[in-house]
Amino acid sequence: MSRFLDERLQSLCAYTPGEQPQDKKYIKLNTNESPFPPSPKVIEAISAAEVADLRLYSDPSTKVLTAEIAKRFGVLPENIYTSNGSDDILNFTCMAFCGAKKGVAFPEISYGFYEVYAELYNLDCKKIPLNADFSINPSDYFGLGRTILIANPNAPTGMALPKSAIEEIVKNNPNDVVLVDEAYVDFGAESSVELVKKYKNVIVCHTMSKSRSLAGARLGYAIADAGLIEDLNKIKFSTNPYAINRLSSIAGIESMRDEEYFQNNCKKIIKIREKTINELEKLGFFTLPSCANFIFTKKIGVSGQLIYEKLREHGILVRHFTKPEICDYMRITIGSQSEMDSLVCELEKILGEVQ
Ligand SMILES: *Cc1c(COP(=O)(O)O)cnc(C)c1O
Repeated sequence: MSRFLDERLQSLCAYTPGEQPQDKKYIKLNTNESPFPPSPKVIEAISAAEVADLRLYSDPSTKVLTAEIAKRFGVLPENIYTSNGSDDILNFTCMAFCGAKKGVAFPEISYGFYEVYAELYNLDCKKIPLNADFSINPSDYFGLGRTILIANPNAPTGMALPKSAIEEIVKNNPNDVVLVDEAYVDFGAESSVELVKKYKNVIVCHTMSKSRSLAGARLGYAIADAGLIEDLNKIKFSTNPYAINRLSSIAGIESMRDEEYFQNNCKKIIKIREKTINELEKLGFFTLPSCANFIFTKKIGVSGQLIYEKLREHGILVRHFTKPEICDYMRITIGSQSEMDSLVCELEKILGEVQ
């Protein structure tokens, strides 16, 4: 740290991303990327001519991308905000709709970035405990007088609320913004996008990083009432209007145009997930019900940290968290079938060593 950093930021605890090791080849099941490449249409569209056009700025209004997303969800372009990864939407939501007085609320066990943004903007922050089974109790979020952030499905549990429960939360906070982070919704949860047509205080946030195999492109989008979208755009145009680069924009457009490829990949992941849960159950693992492209699982009597470390030694990366409530668990991304076969095989060996 230099002596120049603003005092307010000196104690800020930044987000720790999952490892992206560059040293050797791991089976990467730690950051919820897709095992499949993006749509062949994406790969085809990124031509040498498009690369040559990188000398030009991108379209700050992302007109074509916005139109494709709007069409996919049956809303108007004015209901769509596009961003450099959906993390930007969370960031801007905390910047725009919380403020010193209002503050923010989110589940105690959830996506780690919520806490970081709360700290970054010095927000009054209410963390709401989960039920004992790791589910979210919707009525805990009624009438809080705060901006609410809810990941649905939640991370790292993978458990989802039905749209009706999200609607109750939205309805019971008419004077506050409710952001529904649907990063994993395509893997079997019910989306709340329809609520956007009925309520002016809900933002549904999606990413192309997981179900559309575009983590490296950094693309996210929000669906909401036109007023909220205008507010988010105000911040984008006050920070970085060209936040979406030319090549990522093309990737997003082509991905949106290839619904079939997208749907197929989601189905494949769900199938591999269910098979993996079964295989792990045979080894004595307990897994929470997952609507995501990852599972949250533990072996009763064996430390999550130990299994994480042993897997790493065996060339498999998974995610382990040190919060006491969840330190027994590991979050494991659903990879290809052969990656999951390797995982199960290594776990079997590890259990033989440690038990
Ligand atoms: C991965 C993830 C995001 C962010 O994704 P981007 O890559 O920034 O689009 C947001 N919320 C949750 C819950 C996530 O797991």
